[in-house]
Amino acid sequence: MAVRPVILANDPILRKKSKKVKHFGEALQVLINDMVESMQAANGMGLAAPQVGVQERVIVVQLPEDEEDPQSGKLFALCNPQIVRAHGEEEGEEGCLCVPGYVGDVKRATWVTVKAQDRRGRKVRIKAEGLLARAFQHEIDHLDGILFIDRVESPDKIRRIVPLEEVEREAVKTKVPLQKAESFKVQVLDKLGKV
Ligand SMILES: [Zn+2]
Repeated sequence: MAVRPVILANDPILRKKSKKVKHFGEALQVLINDMVESMQAANGMGLAAPQVGVQERVIVVQLPEDEEDPQSGKLFALCNPQIVRAHGEEEGEEGCLCVPGYVGDVKRATWVTVKAQDRRGRKVRIKAEGLLARAFQHEIDHLDGILFIDRVESPDKIRRIVPLEEVEREAVKTKVPLQKAESFKVQVLDKLGKV
């Protein structure tokens, strides 16, 4: 297993539609293992393959352990996930490993049913609510080139949570070229200006 670097919001790969998984062989198993390790290393609740530069319809989701939430702690690794039912609506805070230093309030369905295949290609169906439903919607969006910053309704719903200098320092630490961090910053600010 290996931690793969997570790409930043300005990378065009994040804007492409990912391809359906057709082969459930060794390469996919390695990808999923690496994605799980990368998500956990970054303290993320979910990760989609395009975030590590792979345009395939694969997501992993794991909520932090919470005694009051029976869906927490469980690891989901899903291929070709699709939301087949969605209802309710709630606004909640989201962040993304590709948009470090920012969180935003995003409206999502409260309950979803996700149809997918597991890492061996077997069909699965998952009912999720609240935070887990939100995580699935966020990660599935990544497979269609959509980021949470696209879904916030107004600029005051995006907040900076760490100084940009720290984002840059982090970028150096994780070996993201500074230039990339810089253009990412411009892109987010641009986006904020446009909303
Ligand atoms: Zn994300």
